[in-house]
Amino acid sequence: MDRVYNFSPGPAVLPLSVLKQAQADLLSLPGIGISPLEISHRSDWFEGVLAETTSNLRKLLQLPDNYSVLYMQGGARLQFSMIPMNLLRGTGGTADYIVTGTWGAKALEEAGREGQAHVAYNGKSHNYSRLPQPSELQLSPGAAYVHFTSNETIQGVQFQQEPEVGDAPLVCDASSDFLCRPLPMSKYGLIYACAQKNLGPAGVTLVIIRNDLLERTPADLHSMLRYTEYSENNSLANTPPVFACYVVMLVTRWLLEHGGLTKMEERNRAKAALLYQVLDEYEDFYQGHADPACRSTMNVTFRLPSDELTKRFVKEAAAQGLRELKGHRSVGGIRASIYNAMPLDGVEKLREFMLEFAAVAKV
Ligand code: PMP
Repeated sequence: MDRVYNFSPGPAVLPLSVLKQAQADLLSLPGIGISPLEISHRSDWFEGVLAETTSNLRKLLQLPDNYSVLYMQGGARLQFSMIPMNLLRGTGGTADYIVTGTWGAKALEEAGREGQAHVAYNGKSHNYSRLPQPSELQLSPGAAYVHFTSNETIQGVQFQQEPEVGDAPLVCDASSDFLCRPLPMSKYGLIYACAQKNLGPAGVTLVIIRNDLLERTPADLHSMLRYTEYSENNSLANTPPVFACYVVMLVTRWLLEHGGLTKMEERNRAKAALLYQVLDEYEDFYQGHADPACRSTMNVTFRLPSDELTKRFVKEAAAQGLRELKGHRSVGGIRASIYNAMPLDGVEKLREFMLEFAAVAKV
């Protein structure tokens, strides 16, 4: 098979067994005779897909009963708008934003269009290379909610635990690290993630919301922008992305079969450590972007001494089947995205390549 190691930040690598299952089902679902690309979202089969995915997520996350799982479209970026529309509009209150990278800054911008958005922390002056200490958070008393980004995909900084925000509902963009580790779900008011990194293909976005927050949805909000439209209709008020939801179900099955989120966290930590060890050993050659205490287990970001070496690195790595390593244009350098489905082999191969490249380029 001619598959390469795909270090893309998203859409990203999926487990091979999931792809094989999707391939096996593609022409005809067993006992149904219709492709998952063709089947009605009103079919019993699809209702079963959503029910199983929700049940798998409940098991994986030990999700308390007072949370709803919603399947939405429009990507994580639509949530940047829907969150303030549903949770801030009409409250007369303030929403706090902890901005630790590019995505958090974009979320803040949308909230400012909707109401009072307060910057509780902004890491821009540190080039988004680190996360706030608890004493650096300037939280508003009685905030409508506090938003943070658990893993900034572009900069590669990841919260190791939730920021302490008192009684305000904690709202989290977990797009690039959802299901990479267990989460204390009862700390969250709302958590959302687009699928195309750790969950499945692009097209579906998961929103998990504590039920009391659904009561904030303003009555005059357009139907498809209301969380209640999804919670009251089992996410079937209109046509969901059927195929993407089906693949997310397969990924949740894969996670359960592979020991759940505790096991996933162990694997992810071990994979990331292999690359960070190289950054530490060769720090005059590979300069990590993130402060060591804030390093992401999902997106490993670093720079080389020159643009020319960076280009050579990307090109020579690609020739060895290590692809999509170019950093985001706003940060430069290299970004290796090593989500749940990136096999250990791929990370080991990248590590070997980094060691060889440093040895040759340094002479
Ligand atoms: N938030 C984070 C943390 C992301 O990494 C991304 C996508 N790279 C987004 C939001 C935007 O997601 P989407 O493209 O699904 O709108």
